[in-house]
Amino acid sequence: MLKGTYPLDRFQGLQTPFYYYDTQLLQLTLDAIRDEVKDRPQWQVHYAVKANHNPVLLKQIVAAGLGADCVSGGEVKAALEAGFPPQSIVYAGVGKADWEILLALDAGIGRFNVESSAELQVIASLAASKGLVAPVSLRVNPDIGAHTLAGITTGLAENKFGIYHGMVEEVAREALALSSVRFCGLHFHIGSQILEMPDFAALCNRINDLTDRLERAGIPIADVNVGGGLGIEYGHPNHLPMANFKAYFSTYKRLLPASRPVHFELGRSIVAPCGTLITRVLYVKEGLARRFAIVDAGMNDLIRPALYHASHRIENLSSNGPELPYDVVGPCCESSDVFGKDILLEECHRGDFIAIRSAGAYGESMASQYNCRPLAPAVFSE
Ligand SMILES: *Cc1c(COP(=O)(O)O)cnc(C)c1O
Repeated sequence: MLKGTYPLDRFQGLQTPFYYYDTQLLQLTLDAIRDEVKDRPQWQVHYAVKANHNPVLLKQIVAAGLGADCVSGGEVKAALEAGFPPQSIVYAGVGKADWEILLALDAGIGRFNVESSAELQVIASLAASKGLVAPVSLRVNPDIGAHTLAGITTGLAENKFGIYHGMVEEVAREALALSSVRFCGLHFHIGSQILEMPDFAALCNRINDLTDRLERAGIPIADVNVGGGLGIEYGHPNHLPMANFKAYFSTYKRLLPASRPVHFELGRSIVAPCGTLITRVLYVKEGLARRFAIVDAGMNDLIRPALYHASHRIENLSSNGPELPYDVVGPCCESSDVFGKDILLEECHRGDFIAIRSAGAYGESMASQYNCRPLAPAVFSE
């Protein structure tokens, strides 16, 4: 949203901070994804619920026909409550507890993405105890380093995620021998905020090598799930408000065989651009060498800058004064409660509305009540 398009009159009556969601932009994003995959009826796009589990957004995403990708029993529950068909739900995670597995079995979800042989055995025995057959894929650690922040790469051999690619054949044979599981295929996810298409191309090549190797060994691969990870342009929310879905999906169209069904799990690229954290300036403080804009949102509302050194574009929506450099900081009692250093903002005054952009993913869903601060509510454009 351009600076002039935020409804400041409406904001005047609201307590800050809050998340403001542009549901029109979300709809345009969902439409763009549908257009990119409409020539591949065997492909299914799932939404990664962990990026944002706000029920209003989930319902809009269900209505667009996406499935859900969950990483906990709570997320499976949230997806079911929002109306995702159970068959459209896939469930990954290295540490699935028994109650979470049972909940997913009872719901009849579409797929368990299994991350170890030990987990496979537990799913098999819980399914057997209920007289059910659990549909499983094996999550493979493809040992591919994505060009992204170290904290959010997941596909390297030393990450905790998945089964090392050299050991997948053995675990697949185990799965095939279990009568209470149905082995369906392979699952991958190499990281998040990936803007380099060659990273996804490398994943495709790894997938093709592995599926060829397994099929030659007599292990049928019905489908593959390539995970998510497509990044967005945090620095340019106005010029590039949507992720490059064309480049992303065309990479997979070019490199994966058209005959095999493919699942995708996109989180950030679907919801990040539509969300803005709206906060107000409490105080402007002149330091020795720095000028601080102290705002009423903190790291408990949006932890990405403190956790990953992530940067979000910050704008002053209220001022047309000359631009000055500010350190934009929150009120939490942590030195890392900083949204940005040396950020050029139009001159700040107490009460100005500050927009922290592209905060729709891993914002509200990672919020906490640290310092006994209340959770920031959500406000929608319509
Ligand atoms: C987090 C996650 C995703 C979504 O990642 P994005 O970078 O938000 O697209 C997809 N699949 C799995 C297994 C995940 O853990």
